[in-house]
Amino acid sequence: MDLLPLFMNIRGASCLVIGGGEVAARKASLLLEAGAVITVVSPALCLGLQQWQDDGRIEHLKRGFSEQDLQNKTLVIAATDDHAVNERVSELARARNILVNVVDNPALCSFVMPSIIDRSPVQIAISTGGASPVLARLLRAKLESTIPAAYGRLAALVERFRTPVKKRFPTVNARRGFWESILQGKVAELVFAGKEQQAERILEQSIAVGDESTVGEVYLVGGGPGDPDLLTFRALRLMQQADVVLYDRLVSEEVLNLCRRDAERINVGKARDKHLVPQGEINQLLVKLAKEGKRVCRLKGGDPFVFGRGGEEIETLAAEGINFQVVPGITAALGTAAYAGIPLTHRDYSQAVTFVTGHMKNGSMDLNWPALAQTNQTVVFYMGLKGLPVICEQLMTHGLSAETPIALVQQATTPRQKSYTGTLATMPELISGKEIQPPTLIIVGEVVRLHDKLKWFQPSA
Ligand code: SAH
Repeated sequence: MDLLPLFMNIRGASCLVIGGGEVAARKASLLLEAGAVITVVSPALCLGLQQWQDDGRIEHLKRGFSEQDLQNKTLVIAATDDHAVNERVSELARARNILVNVVDNPALCSFVMPSIIDRSPVQIAISTGGASPVLARLLRAKLESTIPAAYGRLAALVERFRTPVKKRFPTVNARRGFWESILQGKVAELVFAGKEQQAERILEQSIAVGDESTVGEVYLVGGGPGDPDLLTFRALRLMQQADVVLYDRLVSEEVLNLCRRDAERINVGKARDKHLVPQGEINQLLVKLAKEGKRVCRLKGGDPFVFGRGGEEIETLAAEGINFQVVPGITAALGTAAYAGIPLTHRDYSQAVTFVTGHMKNGSMDLNWPALAQTNQTVVFYMGLKGLPVICEQLMTHGLSAETPIALVQQATTPRQKSYTGTLATMPELISGKEIQPPTLIIVGEVVRLHDKLKWFQPSA
């Protein structure tokens, strides 16, 4: 180990920043956050530093560095673009046992500044010892995405209960076991979901009973349109935490693969005879699993509240008093629009967008056709492939021009994405005989004209 990681209490200590540019400002900003008293020496200041000086948050010496500036300083940062000055600062500071950092020059440093993930009071610092700041930054981005922003709030909650827990569990081992179950279980999840009062109540109960409650919970998670990169941080975290995953047909293989390896997976989109598991049975299964104490991830394609029947599933849970949370996902319309280069609204062509279901019942669709056939708007049809000829015909019958552009996009956001564009008059014929692979989405409106210019994602081209 070349460097010893430390977290330093610098509140009230005098620190010197040499240099007045953006880099100096970034370092000064960290020192300020940690409560240091800062003097900046530099002939000129960038806007940020100037603002802090105006606000009285830093002291400014408007000149070059001189040796006496080091007097009574605890820590020094040299951020000038003059190598000779930086070298001199380093030498003088070290001779006085003052901690010194020279930006971008590890050889001149007695300490380096790490990349930081701040979930105060939890802090994670990453250093490559100056070998590769970019690598440290990439690592940081990875960790940022998997450590919920509310970790700090969780730590603060736990801190408040340290004394009662110490009293309740006299041995270190018992305490450790207790905290492990709390920090990986329901209490933590409630804090992350913004239900802090409930978390506190359950924590109190758990301390009284001596264990965490064994009632499970359900996460209703939107898995997005297919590309796993479009999952939210929260979706990914809950997918990796759940003991059981109930998924349906729309959830892509790539997304499903991100669930915890040893989690039980139940496909409720397709039973052996290729029929869907009836909605009522899914609702009951969720209740049953949660009552067995399991953490259940109900993983749905797109967003759970957009043509996803997610509402019905959590109504049953609510009625049974089972804890749940809902994680939004990118709905097919938004994923398709982005990946096919078709903006859903546009200042010149479309002032509104409507999402409708094109699902056929007894050979027709029960839709408000006069409203859908207005110009200056975009209409997105979910589940519309079978009914495409009906959609085109009805829109024309109710007044839209036969020339109105229409797009049909298959398996949007996946490597199998494919787009077909035409007009209301030509589309049904254009795709007849083509092997279209569901799911597909239909977009109608002038905005479809932009597809040719804006298409950027063409995996099968
Ligand atoms: N809850 C989902 C929609 C469920 S309805 C969501 O928010 O996206 C199912 C319909 O969604 C499909 O028939 C299809 O029209 C559309 N769909 C879902 N994923 C899609 C994809 N990757 N590409 C195109 N259409 C998709």
